[in-house]
Amino acid sequence: MAFYSNEIIQQLKAHADIAMVIENFVPLKRSGNGRYLGVCPFHDDRSPSMNVNPSLGIYKCFACGAGGDVFKFVQEHEKMDFKGAVEWVANFTGFALPQLGAPEDSEKTEERAMVRRLNELACEWFEQQLALSPKALQYLSSRHITDETRKLFHIGYAPDGREGFIGYAVKNGFSPLDCVKAGLAVQKENGGISDKFRDRLMIAIQNLSGVIVAFGGRDLSENKDFKRAKYMNSPESALYHKSDILYGLHQSRQSIAKERSVIIVEGYFDMISLFQGGVTNVVAASGTALTETHASILARYAEKAYLVFDGDEAGRTATYRSLQIVLPKGIAPRIFALSRPDGTKIDPDNFVNERGADAFREALKGSEDWLSYLMRLSDMQSPEERAKLVNFTKSLVKSIPDHELRNQYVKLISERFNTDRSLAQVKPLKPQKSFEERRAHSNAPTANNATDEVIPQLEQETSLNWASLPPMEIRFANLVLRNPTLMNRALEYFDMDWAASGIRMFESPVIEEFVNSAIALYAETGAMSPQMLYDNVSPTLRLFLEGLPEEQWKTPQEIIEFYQTLTEFSKKLCDRQKHSIPLTSNEAVEVRMQMSKFTQGMQKLNALFNAEKITIDAFADQVVRSKAQLIHFQSVIQGATPIQEAVAMPTPSAASAPKPVAEPAPAPSEAPAPSAMHVQNVMQAPIAQPVTSAPQQAPDEYVDEQMPNDEPPEGFEPPPPEDDEEYSYGNDDFNEESNDFEYQ
Ligand SMILES: [Zn+2]
Repeated sequence: MAFYSNEIIQQLKAHADIAMVIENFVPLKRSGNGRYLGVCPFHDDRSPSMNVNPSLGIYKCFACGAGGDVFKFVQEHEKMDFKGAVEWVANFTGFALPQLGAPEDSEKTEERAMVRRLNELACEWFEQQLALSPKALQYLSSRHITDETRKLFHIGYAPDGREGFIGYAVKNGFSPLDCVKAGLAVQKENGGISDKFRDRLMIAIQNLSGVIVAFGGRDLSENKDFKRAKYMNSPESALYHKSDILYGLHQSRQSIAKERSVIIVEGYFDMISLFQGGVTNVVAASGTALTETHASILARYAEKAYLVFDGDEAGRTATYRSLQIVLPKGIAPRIFALSRPDGTKIDPDNFVNERGADAFREALKGSEDWLSYLMRLSDMQSPEERAKLVNFTKSLVKSIPDHELRNQYVKLISERFNTDRSLAQVKPLKPQKSFEERRAHSNAPTANNATDEVIPQLEQETSLNWASLPPMEIRFANLVLRNPTLMNRALEYFDMDWAASGIRMFESPVIEEFVNSAIALYAETGAMSPQMLYDNVSPTLRLFLEGLPEEQWKTPQEIIEFYQTLTEFSKKLCDRQKHSIPLTSNEAVEVRMQMSKFTQGMQKLNALFNAEKITIDAFADQVVRSKAQLIHFQSVIQGATPIQEAVAMPTPSAASAPKPVAEPAPAPSEAPAPSAMHVQNVMQAPIAQPVTSAPQQAPDEYVDEQMPNDEPPEGFEPPPPEDDEEYSYGNDDFNEESNDFEYQ
């Protein structure tokens, strides 16, 4: 099937202003930092909980968790498929999508719009016809449906006759064939077209945002000789996919979100009667069994789902299936049956009409958890049946996303069935997550939990401990994120040799992951944008990206800060590394000395630049070259290079760099000549001093002597002024093993 290339999708995403798109549906307020706040349309939101971040191209509701990119918003809000949402966004923002092979694709869009308009017209007409039909009105009152309710749910009537609606549609500019496409008319083999719905009570089926996508028709004919279907639905159309639509959700979603629970019933009138009776957190999966899409939609609003259980075989099968669908979505199912006082079964519609909403709420209290339900229905005497049941319940439990809930259920199962608490042998119901989701999760570190042996963790709550992130590292990440033009420079520094060296430049694994991801993305695609990055990283990193402040740099400030920060990171890295060299020999002392000289050199380099004695290009060049030294230190620390060699290592300048410098550094002549030479001298100066002339201090004294003589050179100022108070050099307590980073 032809589809837009990923490239086009990314271009459109970059082109579309998500705030502008969402504003089309929900009023947004600027929240001051380049972001927007609005009332979330996906739950009953009082205070604005939906955050819109145009720079990342995402929205996120902090109350109900709904979130995603611009396409996701349109998909969810307008109940469109992905392609439909892409086309909608393109249309709305004036982006020219390429023609997809066949012209039928734009026809599809037009058809969808046509069906939508035609459905609205039909709805109006059916409602008018209802008011004219004593029979239909009588029927409604026999079902205790009030006028208010029938208006709320757009209940109408399609009179008997072949061309009642078609005639009306034609008068309003539609063709009879349009009516067929919308599922409102049928075409016979001889080509004749007639109304599909005749002498039926018409129930408008709306999507989440209230668009009428289809109709359900209840037969009102009294002709008993001619067997007609009691209920007839619109066929699937450009607008209607029944597996996506839950009847009544448009009206009930606020209440479902408020109660955090949903009652799932079978028929339209079950839903309508409960709603009218005041039990408003109800939907009907009518015309189809509950689907995964249904459950995903409901999971946004509800934690608990009440399934009305019908005692017969079909009802049991449907209940089993529903369990398998709702449990993996994190919804706790409860099952209940309705009966009259004499024990005969009754549907929710009749129950509410006969006994009232309060009695219904009482009945809900008698619902059982799914495990009790399954046990009650099974033959607990036969070992085979028990084993089957244990396996089934365990596979259900394994699909529950919540770790603690899974624990609790495992405990229950082991107690009730006297079986072990392992889920290891149990096959999960089906893949729980899409490939994308799994990939994202596999990047997230997993906590080592004692219970892991018993219950494999499927999912982790993502959280990020901001306090554990050094401010200077956060700022550096933001700098790179907001200035994609720096990516070439970043790639030059953090190149393959750097990656191979295994150096960890950053204290925080999150920042390390950020830089690696950005560089990988850039190396792979030749581009890097906040949105693209966001789409390709772990949940933890997403949280990090969401939390970064909006900031702007004025050229060439971003370039200057980039290199200055690298010199600071280099110094900090050396300070950390010094501590990992055991002070067992003079050689070790010498390497430490070299590191101290290196940090001094970095400091002087910075000073020279700040004093405008060297150009930014020369500065950049020296910073990039200096990493060879860092790579060398790293290899010494890892024991790959004898310390002796390290001692012999002369300077960080390109011309004399020894082997571990894998990247061929540019010839010095490429840099502006005079200043580059000057810098080399500066860089060489401290290191060129004979190492052996280092003070004859005992190694022990070196422990406390990290930054020899550190009067900053004249004119030296720590580069990123925001950060200098936040970090300290030479933290003796730093320990590679300790895990300060409380993030998971
Ligand atoms: Zn929300």
